[in-house]
Amino acid sequence: PRTTAPDPAAGEAVRAADRAHVFHSWSAQGLIDPLPVAGGEGSYFWDYDGNRYLDFSSQLVNTNIGHQHPKVVAAIQEQAGRMCTMAPGFAVDVRAEAARLVAERTPGNLDKIFWTNGGAEAVENAVRMAKLHTGRPKVMSTYRSYHGHTSAAIHLTGDPRRWANDTGAAGAVHFFGPHLYRSHFYAETEEQECERALAHLEETIVYEGPSTIAAVVLETIAGTAGVLVPPPGYLAGVREICDRHGIVFVLDEVMAGFGRSGAWFAADHFGVTPDLITFAKGVNSGYVPLGGVAISAEIAARFDQRPYPGGLTYSGHPLACGSAVATINTMAEEGIVENAAHIGESVIGPALREMAERHPSVGEVRGMGTFWALDLVRDKVTREPLVPYNASGPDNAPMAEFAAACKRGGVWPFVNMNRTHVVPPCNITEAEAKEGLAVLDEALSAADAHTSAPGASARG
Ligand code: PLP
Repeated sequence: PRTTAPDPAAGEAVRAADRAHVFHSWSAQGLIDPLPVAGGEGSYFWDYDGNRYLDFSSQLVNTNIGHQHPKVVAAIQEQAGRMCTMAPGFAVDVRAEAARLVAERTPGNLDKIFWTNGGAEAVENAVRMAKLHTGRPKVMSTYRSYHGHTSAAIHLTGDPRRWANDTGAAGAVHFFGPHLYRSHFYAETEEQECERALAHLEETIVYEGPSTIAAVVLETIAGTAGVLVPPPGYLAGVREICDRHGIVFVLDEVMAGFGRSGAWFAADHFGVTPDLITFAKGVNSGYVPLGGVAISAEIAARFDQRPYPGGLTYSGHPLACGSAVATINTMAEEGIVENAAHIGESVIGPALREMAERHPSVGEVRGMGTFWALDLVRDKVTREPLVPYNASGPDNAPMAEFAAACKRGGVWPFVNMNRTHVVPPCNITEAEAKEGLAVLDEALSAADAHTSAPGASARG
């Protein structure tokens, strides 16, 4: 791919301007040094100093068609020339076409789309719809989940990072979904862990009072929490429990959807149809902010004769919807979903499993498609995480050294707590994937050095 000519002085100017006025998400403002980025194309982006990075993070796991896909850039330019904005109360061609393209890909009768600007707003509205539909006050979600950083979304999120500033909310009830590798419940097989998790959910519902629960909200494959692929039968079991108690089943596919798992929706792998699906990110590769809720016919019908009490100035924004139409059509034309499935099965999965055999720091490999995680440990037997939860400073050195080694090798990694997620664009080529995996392999030596078996070298 093209890169722009190095211009360190321009990079310094961007850094200074950023420092002066940009307040960054999820960061101690005085402790960060955001990389000034000059551009990106396909699976790569580059800085002002002449360094190019293979994007193994897809940014925040959203650039599913890579950077600056020419068809989508052209569609945004064309849409900008025709109609930049129009209030949600009007019927607009690209708004309707994007809704049709999404609805065609959702399972079952989830055929109506409520548009938002991103994932958290989608979760907020799914929760509101479920509460209005059932007339019930509580919503359940799992520990080890991420649903966004707005009000209901953060209260549902089961991520230890949130506890520091959040008291929780009345009506947000957490439970433990299946996670065999880190289960504290002594399950030995995926089947036992699935049984354990379903029994635990059922019991939690009974103790909370089934008639008080509006919704169960799950990521189909929990992303930020570590790419937790549910065991066979789990989601079908949750569907059955929800049906029995009249609870709305919401699958959050903000990260898992639109090709990431090697299917249009991760629910497709499990043959499960929820009542609501939240989506964002990959729907248009993040080129313009966009998200939405796909709504079942039953829930949509609730609001046929009474207004839905929710809305956003930019719901169904024409520029965003135009980019979604172009993205979905491009993914279909170029076989990008199939590519993700193929690369996962034949390149990324086998390579990561092989690395796990050689590297003492790799405790577990999980994933599918272009959606993978390595759970890094100090000790494969005890499974002690390579760094403690919420580690910072010297405590986080093993992960920081690993990330620095990836970057020196030209790969931009996704690192979260004791894990690295391998989440490149869904249209990454085999050659690019292999290039990145070789760098990752090398960088794992930095993690190995902090294990109880530091002598075992990656090349050993
Ligand atoms: N839900 C899931 C599963 C996510 O992964 C995310 C973001 O990572 C969100 C919701 C929140 O989306 P956004 O950051 O667009 O609000």
